[in-house]
Amino acid sequence: MSEEECIFCKIAKGEIGSETVYEDENVIAFRDLNPKMPVHVLVIPKEHYDNLSDDVPEALIGQVFGAAARVAKICGIDESGYRVVSNIGKDACQSVMHLHVHVIGGAPMGDDL
Ligand code: AMP
Ligand code: ZN
Repeated sequence: MSEEECIFCKIAKGEIGSETVYEDENVIAFRDLNPKMPVHVLVIPKEHYDNLSDDVPEALIGQVFGAAARVAKICGIDESGYRVVSNIGKDACQSVMHLHVHVIGGAPMGDDL
């Protein structure tokens, strides 16, 4: 899929609506359309990378994780705990090929991955 057709690129450019939770120059965080937990937010870099294995600059990875921590605070789950998960490729069932991390929480989770 070309970057022009990438749904998360379109969200980053404001061409598709999303419920934005946090945004800065480099990243945007928005609520997942199909939440799996009471809090389920996706953090993406505005620039397109397929996933973590796409030679992503390490500074940008830091910005995505920094934003994930901010999102947790904004959503009030920083004290109770949360997970930051990124699915990469086929075996991990990555369905949108634009680097993203899921920030999930708001209820207890199992101790499996
Ligand atoms: P993954 O399986 O890690 O690639 O996760 C992709 C996530 O993107 C899924 O949890 C979807 O529910 C979510 N998603 C897909 N399209 C949208 C959209 N337009 N707005 C918000 N979340 C979306
Ligand atoms: Zn994209």
